[in-house]
Amino acid sequence: MLGRGHSPRFDGLAARGAFFANHRSAFPSVTRCCSATIATGCRPARHGIAGNTVALPDGAGGFVVRNVGAPEIFDQLRAAYGRVLKVPTMAQRLAGHGGTVVLSSASPGAAFMQDPDAHGEIYHRSGSRGPGGRSLDDAGLTSEGTIEDDTRLARAFCEEILPRGAALSVLWLSHPDKTMHKVLLGSPDHMASVAAADACLGMVIDAVDAMRAAGEDVLLMAGSDHGHQSVVATVDIDAGLHAAGLKDDLASSEVCFAPQGTSGHIYLAPQARERAEPIAAWLRAQDWAGEVVVGERLAAFGHSGEHGLAIMFCGKELEAPSPDAPGGAVAFHRHDEAPAPIGFGQHGGLGTHEQAPVLIADGGGMRGVCEAASDIADIAPTILAHLGQPVDGMDGRALQTLVSAAAMA
Ligand SMILES: [Zn+2]
Repeated sequence: MLGRGHSPRFDGLAARGAFFANHRSAFPSVTRCCSATIATGCRPARHGIAGNTVALPDGAGGFVVRNVGAPEIFDQLRAAYGRVLKVPTMAQRLAGHGGTVVLSSASPGAAFMQDPDAHGEIYHRSGSRGPGGRSLDDAGLTSEGTIEDDTRLARAFCEEILPRGAALSVLWLSHPDKTMHKVLLGSPDHMASVAAADACLGMVIDAVDAMRAAGEDVLLMAGSDHGHQSVVATVDIDAGLHAAGLKDDLASSEVCFAPQGTSGHIYLAPQARERAEPIAAWLRAQDWAGEVVVGERLAAFGHSGEHGLAIMFCGKELEAPSPDAPGGAVAFHRHDEAPAPIGFGQHGGLGTHEQAPVLIADGGGMRGVCEAASDIADIAPTILAHLGQPVDGMDGRALQTLVSAAAMA
């Protein structure tokens, strides 16, 4: 949806910096687990946040689905497992090395997954806080999530946050994603939100150029954590599993479906573990079936089967509903929630477009089109390498080596 006349600043940055042409999201391609992946440089198996929703022990031998976007998720994860993330974030690694400031208009879960244990500063409408959890004066630095708020936040980022000189400054805007969930992809409303986000990027580019002119060595990374596809069908997974005799009741806890937009996770309590293969067979037999991942294959998709996660699945790629829109996808929902609106944007699966986030690295000597595969786990090591910090213990790689290797080839 970029490069169509609505993103002049993005296009200009891509032309002068390094553009990663084969960049991928996590699976599931949903923001709360992507935020943890970007913050840690690790995939979900290592950082411990499997999706936008996760199933946690219900205290009675089964599982209950929890929303990773809600502010309560941090206490819920600590109560269940004694931690939020299993590995350090950039904010933790940079504490005492210049620090981190995050401005975010995303959900509380997505925002605070950047730094759940309060090593740096996060400004967010659900409560801004600094190192050790002390509350911060956040006048003008939070957003209720409108496009206008994103624009105001970008301006505050340039005028108030960047001059503070933190080692890492993060501006996380919820549009165009938030718009795309509510409009037809490719529609004028969608393209207007792309243009608004592009103008925000333009402000940051200008601010970074001014910092460089003043002698600072700045690496500017601009990108998205996932793409979108159009919802062309929806499926109630609880109802399907129950009708097939694979789930005791729509709301039973022994087989727990955790929706991820256009993909889904199924958690099995110990007494239901033998249902993994029958449920996988049922998923594969559906006319909408795409990838179904079970057992040891979870590792190939960056996940582990610990804490009851037994199956990950998504639908097959479908045709787009209009020539202006990217490809279509099936969206999945629980019995007690509304299906996603047909025709609007959604993400979570392995579809071509939802797995095509964008990434530009401008600075650090990186330039040109990089055709080598990259993904969102590479962002943290690239930033830490630029800052001269160790990049040990991460799944991703510093992209500086990838770009210079490609340039020499
Ligand atoms: Zn979204």
